[in-house]
Amino acid sequence: MNMYEGLRSCSKRYCKLLLEVTDEIIIIFDIRGNVVNCNRAAIDKLGYKANDITGMYVGDIVSDLFSVNMYGNVVLPKMDESGRIMGVMYRSNMTCFDVYASIKSWTDEQGDFVGIVCATETVMLKSAEKQLNIAKEEQKKTEQIRTEFVANVTHELRTPLNGIIGHVKEIKEGIDSERLKTIGIIEKCADDMMKLINNILDFSKLEAGKYLLDEQECQFSKFIDHIVATHIKNIDEKGLKLVLNVDENIPEYILCDELALGRILNNLMSNAVKFTSVGNIMLQITKASETEDYVELFFMVIDSGIGISDEEKTKLFKEFSQVDASVTRKYGGTGLGLAITKQLVEMMNGQIFVESTKGEGSTFSFNVVLKKSEKTGKIDENNFTFSDSVSRTSGDTEDIDELFAVNKFGTSENFEEIRKNIDKLAITIEMNNFEKAEMFASNIKELVIGQDEELDKSLFRIVLMLRRENYEKSAELLGTVKSKLSEITGMML
Ligand code: ADP
Repeated sequence: MNMYEGLRSCSKRYCKLLLEVTDEIIIIFDIRGNVVNCNRAAIDKLGYKANDITGMYVGDIVSDLFSVNMYGNVVLPKMDESGRIMGVMYRSNMTCFDVYASIKSWTDEQGDFVGIVCATETVMLKSAEKQLNIAKEEQKKTEQIRTEFVANVTHELRTPLNGIIGHVKEIKEGIDSERLKTIGIIEKCADDMMKLINNILDFSKLEAGKYLLDEQECQFSKFIDHIVATHIKNIDEKGLKLVLNVDENIPEYILCDELALGRILNNLMSNAVKFTSVGNIMLQITKASETEDYVELFFMVIDSGIGISDEEKTKLFKEFSQVDASVTRKYGGTGLGLAITKQLVEMMNGQIFVESTKGEGSTFSFNVVLKKSEKTGKIDENNFTFSDSVSRTSGDTEDIDELFAVNKFGTSENFEEIRKNIDKLAITIEMNNFEKAEMFASNIKELVIGQDEELDKSLFRIVLMLRRENYEKSAELLGTVKSKLSEITGMML
């Protein structure tokens, strides 16, 4: 609400207050153009005494804007689009200054004409603009200081952490199994902290526009093999299967920032592994298009994990967003990974998409446009060193559908999965590795879901006992689960 509207709508008491506190010059005049009232700013800035200004013709104070019609009534000037007009105001000592004024009239309750001038010195406007620019500059400086601070602190944090990780690795050699377990926990904590620090550093660089891509020649088959190597241990440990499907038409050499593309793939792959307890993870890479200088690649990371609901999908790529608090408690993380991933994909002229059904799995896909290298040749599949642990498919949709349908209860693949997970559960309980055991118990729960109430209850209690680190009770319950399952499936377990 501007001053004019304020005066029209407020009560007399507030009106007076409004007139007194504002820095705008306010002059009220009658139908003849004679001043009937003004505020403190007008008196201060024009140098008149209150009594002297009353009765003056408004056109003598605000020059050249008013005229008088044939009835001797004042005619108001036309305002510009913003409802204002530039003018000159005269002080009592005949010196003048430029103003930006709003001049209007209305009829009061008694039916009388009320005219009003609300004017601001342009010097003041300019100084406000100047102040705004100063504030903007300061904000820019503060942001720069913040970015530098984050960069320095994260860098300083990484140095001692690297020391811890390095020495832990040394200690691990030649140590008994109990201590090895403790050292393993320290190592995992330090690794997690390192990931977190790297995420914060990358995120703050991206936000400040300081993340620059460093394009170098990359041998694509070796790069992908390295990505697989990073995740294969976790995939194996969770009893999952990795399916790799790389289009044979992809060039072996491309120009790209391996660290950035690796970051994107590693984030998506580790999420896929983290949120899947039974089934498959698939990495599929196809050549989407090619010109003389560029190649566009399309990546898909498909999992058969917990899935994401439509509502949760809207929050996914926002920084610090994990879909719900229980996810954070169970799986850890800060919710920065996908926000960074999205920004990196966009820096490589691509887009990222997600398709997912709650309880069935998720597909994260993205494209990137990369420069071609001078070296030619199609991808060299001999460089894929993980052929034992990784299945390859032709990429046909039927193949994929079949792969992702193995979890259905009653199929031979499902029985095989149950058997594997029961073996792993028994071993991990024996080794007091409660965390891993809980994971295998959850896998079994998913594989037999809805088959038998007693079975569901026993598995639920196993998870509970494992959380309480009650080895004996967990082992006892595992016996019950085994015999119940043998009864349902007709298999010896
Ligand atoms: P963080 O860096 O903590 O791992 P992300 O930004 O990578 O966070 O992921 C944010 C959230 O998105 C996760 O906490 C999880 O709830 C959800 N999410 C990401 N990937 C998957 C997936 N493959 N399956 C199910 N949920 C996922």
